[in-house]
Amino acid sequence: MADTQLWRSVIKQLETKIKKADLLVWFQGTTILTKQENKVVIGLPSIFSEEWFSKRYKGILLDAFRELGQKIDVIEFEIDSSLIDEGGAGMDMREFAADDTKRKVRKLPKRQEFKVVGSDLTSKMMNPKYSLDNFVVGNDNRLAHAAASAVVRKPGTAYNPLFVYGDVGLGKTHLLQAIGNGIQLETGKLVIYCTAEKFTNEIVEAIRKNDVNGFRNRYRRADVLIIDDIQFLAKKKRTQEEFFHTFNDMYHDNKQVVLSSDRPPKELDGIEERLVSRFEMGMIVDVGFPDYETRLAIMHKKCQEMEALIPTDVLEFIAYNARASIRELEGILVQAIAQAKLENSTPTVNSVAKIMKKLGMVEVNKPSSTIERDSRPLVTNCDDVINIVSGYYKVDFTELTGDRRSRDIMIPRQVCMYLLRNEFNFSFEKIGDEFGGRNHTTAMHAYNKMVKALKNDSKLVRDVNAIKKEMGM
Ligand code: ADP
Ligand code: MG
Repeated sequence: MADTQLWRSVIKQLETKIKKADLLVWFQGTTILTKQENKVVIGLPSIFSEEWFSKRYKGILLDAFRELGQKIDVIEFEIDSSLIDEGGAGMDMREFAADDTKRKVRKLPKRQEFKVVGSDLTSKMMNPKYSLDNFVVGNDNRLAHAAASAVVRKPGTAYNPLFVYGDVGLGKTHLLQAIGNGIQLETGKLVIYCTAEKFTNEIVEAIRKNDVNGFRNRYRRADVLIIDDIQFLAKKKRTQEEFFHTFNDMYHDNKQVVLSSDRPPKELDGIEERLVSRFEMGMIVDVGFPDYETRLAIMHKKCQEMEALIPTDVLEFIAYNARASIRELEGILVQAIAQAKLENSTPTVNSVAKIMKKLGMVEVNKPSSTIERDSRPLVTNCDDVINIVSGYYKVDFTELTGDRRSRDIMIPRQVCMYLLRNEFNFSFEKIGDEFGGRNHTTAMHAYNKMVKALKNDSKLVRDVNAIKKEMGM
C-alpha cells in the first residue's frame, strides 16, 4: 500500500476513536514521511501539534497501524511546515468532513492577489495585547486554539470560515483578535476586525448616506475579515444580505473569514438559512469554561501581565470561586489589585471575598481557617517579605541577603526563599537575584529543603505560619 493510501486508512480507523472536530483539526496537513520495517515517521505541519500527538495520539495510532496489519512498534514525529501548503504533501482533511460539508467545499481558483496598504480600518480595532501566546490553553479551549493557530499559519486554506462559539467571557474575542494580530504581523495582510454591531451600524450609515458601494469596497479590500458576535445580526435582514455578499466574495477569493457567536450556527435564530449553511462550510470550534487548573494558570498569566504580586492562596481562592467566566475572574483580580494599591496592602482571601460579595457573587466559599483582620500589613514586594522575616527572626536584612552561612541565618534565609516561591510565585531566578545574585539552583535547593523540613519540623511550621499571619495571610 502506498504511504498516502495507508495514512488515509489509518485516519479512517481513527474516525471511531477521535471526535470528528478534533480529527479534522489535528490531522490537517499530516502525512507519513517515512516507513521502514517497524518504524514510521509522521509529518506534522506545526510544532504545536507535536506534544498533543505524542501525549494523546501515539497509542491510538500504533493500534490503528496494527489493526491494518502493519507491524509498527515505533512512531516518531517530525515537523514540516510546508505540509499544510495548498497542494502540499499533507492530508487535506476536507475529504473527511461530513458529506454535506464536503459538497459545499469546493476548491476555487485563486484570483490575482492585490494588496492595499495603509488602511486605517484595521489596527485601531484590534487590541495588540491579544495574542495566541498569551492565550492559556486547557482542555476546554485547546481545539479552538489549535484551529486559530492553523488559520494564522495558512489563512484562507484549511479552515474557511473558522467559526468560534461559546458563552460570554470565555475568550472568543481574545482568539479572534489574536488571529488578526497574528496574520497581520506575519504576513502583513490587510485584516479587518469588527463586531457585528459595528458592521450593522456602518451599513445603516452607508444606506443613509446613499453610499453602499463605498461600504462594499472598503470591506472587500480586506484579505482577512473577522466579525465578532455574529449573533447580533439576528433579524437584521438588510445587514444579513450585505454580509452574505461580502462573505461570498471573500470566500471565493480564498480570503480567510473568521466569525464568533454565542451559540453554534444551527442555533442562530433569526439568521437566514443560507448564511447558516455558509457558517457551517468550514470549521466550527467551541470554547468552554476552563477547569480549575487552567483558571489558575490564566490568573498567573494575568498577574504577570499586570506586574502584580498576589499571594498564591488568593489566586487559588479566586480561581476556585469564579465559576462563570474568565472575564469575571479577571474583573475580581483587577479590583483586588486596585484596592491593594489604594490601601497599600496585599490582597488577602478575606479582602477578595469581600470584593466578590460586592460584585454579587453570593456563594463565596471561604476557608474556615481564615481570620477576619482589619489591618493588613504592607507586603507589596520582595523587600517587604524579607523585612518581615528579618523582624521575626531578629536577623539583619543585609545578613539575610548576604553570604554568611551560619545556621541562625541560613534558616530565616530559606524561609524567605520558600515564602517568595510558595506564596508569591517568584521564579527561582528572581529569588536568586534578590538574594545577592545567587544562582537559581541555590534558591531551588533552599525551597526543596524547606518543603521537606516542613513535613516533620513542627517548630518550623509554627514559625512559617506566624510569619504568614504577619503578612496578613
Ligand atoms: P468573549 O469574547 O468570549 O466574551 P473575551 O475574549 O473578551 O471573551 O475574554 C474575556 C477575558 O478573558 C479577556 O480579557 C481574555 O483575555 C481573557 N481570557 C479568556 N480566555 C483566556 C485564556 N484561555 N487565556 C488567557 N486569557 C483569557
Ligand atoms: Mg467578545
